[in-house]
Amino acid sequence: MDYHSTRGHAPHVSFEDAVLTGLASDGGLYVPVTLPRFNAQELEALSALPYAELAYRILQPFCEGTLEDATLSSLVQESYGSFRHAAIAPLVQIGSNDWILELFHGPTLAFKDFALQFLGRLMSHLLQKRGQKVVVLGATSGDTGSAAIAGCHGLPGMEIVILFPKGRVSEVQRRQMTTYTDANVHPVAVEGTFDDCQQIVKTLFVDASFKEKHPLVAVNSINWARIAAQIVYYFYAGLRLGALHRPVAFTVPTGNFGDIYAGYLASQMGLPVADLVIATNRNDILARCLETGMYDMREVTPSLSPSMDIQISSNFERLLFDLYHQDSASIHGLMESLRQNRRFTLSPAAHTALKARFSAGCADDAATLAAIASTSRESGYLLDPHTAVGVHVAKNITRRNAYGSGQRKPEQPENNPTPMVTLATAHPAKFPDAVKQAAGVHPALPAHLADLFERKEKMASLPNDPEAVKAFIEGL
Ligand SMILES: *Cc1c(COP(=O)(O)O)cnc(C)c1O
Repeated sequence: MDYHSTRGHAPHVSFEDAVLTGLASDGGLYVPVTLPRFNAQELEALSALPYAELAYRILQPFCEGTLEDATLSSLVQESYGSFRHAAIAPLVQIGSNDWILELFHGPTLAFKDFALQFLGRLMSHLLQKRGQKVVVLGATSGDTGSAAIAGCHGLPGMEIVILFPKGRVSEVQRRQMTTYTDANVHPVAVEGTFDDCQQIVKTLFVDASFKEKHPLVAVNSINWARIAAQIVYYFYAGLRLGALHRPVAFTVPTGNFGDIYAGYLASQMGLPVADLVIATNRNDILARCLETGMYDMREVTPSLSPSMDIQISSNFERLLFDLYHQDSASIHGLMESLRQNRRFTLSPAAHTALKARFSAGCADDAATLAAIASTSRESGYLLDPHTAVGVHVAKNITRRNAYGSGQRKPEQPENNPTPMVTLATAHPAKFPDAVKQAAGVHPALPAHLADLFERKEKMASLPNDPEAVKAFIEGL
């Protein structure tokens, strides 16, 4: 399978190069030249497969030309073998036609494990094949860094260096980075903010002479392999709820648009999807864009769902590329406008196409806490604050039952035939304070992390200075 850039000025690349380079040389994002498509008969055959086997079938066309089938098969078996639930992504019913897709049974208790358990092993495999060694470098405000470390620890071919703002990540998040004993894991507390950490990472990535001596790779959310791995759980949940006979709707707590974009791809690949609902917190740029057709950046305001406190949703560019019928000149123009004016306006046709395929809603902190409280009261189920944003939005959206038709039948919620699946992106124990405040219960860490607070921590501490980070990497 070949990949091309959304901006149209970079050469086509293989899956292997798309994975190892991340961003295309023209600043665009890689997408496959064609999407695989499954017909009803093929979907029927996939509908009872265990998670790892389904993952193999869905991912196989994307990796064609780079991975032998047996290699891909063992990579996915190992990746999802680290999950602590036999179903990998279990569905839990919380209302008469409302479901939670639990994506938090991986090592770091957040859905990013689905992508990073796979990406870490995949990169290590490709690097060994090439006889290369790299430094995986990233900045984190919490979740991504721990999931990246959990995906790369102990693997040959890579050192992993993750910068986080000292004193500004939760204790659970910090300990999930600092308690690994593997020699290739290097969490670094930086005297600064998350933005400072990101700035240092950017500085190093554009420093050609440093990169010459110390090859760097990124594991950020624009890596195509991360998107591909996330497509799988939409098929898994949809097929289990009988999507072949009644389309299923998904509500997705959204930040960088990676997760929900994977849902869009699943529908483009043949899964019958009734609706894709973008759920945002008060940082609602995507919900506003759907409403008005204008993508208009504002300042980020901190919320109870910090992993969604984002103003630039990087993967949105991939969707725009489709909405503009792969016209890279248009995408180039939109991104230039965003860079210069902090906003762009969708063409009427693209805006209509966006509204035909997605719905959107938002939840402020009060609504988030209310959703945690009411779900706990009505179903005895504890939501983390990110998932609670989703549940609030799912409850208040008018359900569609014909995807893409633009027709919405206002029906009584209890009579609505369309199952609504809200993606649970984190375990409640990752954000215990909000859960305790709303539901009066302190959520317990799962057994495999029960001793997290007793484990020994290992981390470096550096000033807010790219030179200090360079020296640190040189010393590895
Ligand atoms: C990263 C993250 C999100 C947002 O996912 P995107 O792919 O960036 O839209 C939502 N919830 C949690 C818990 C996360 O860690």
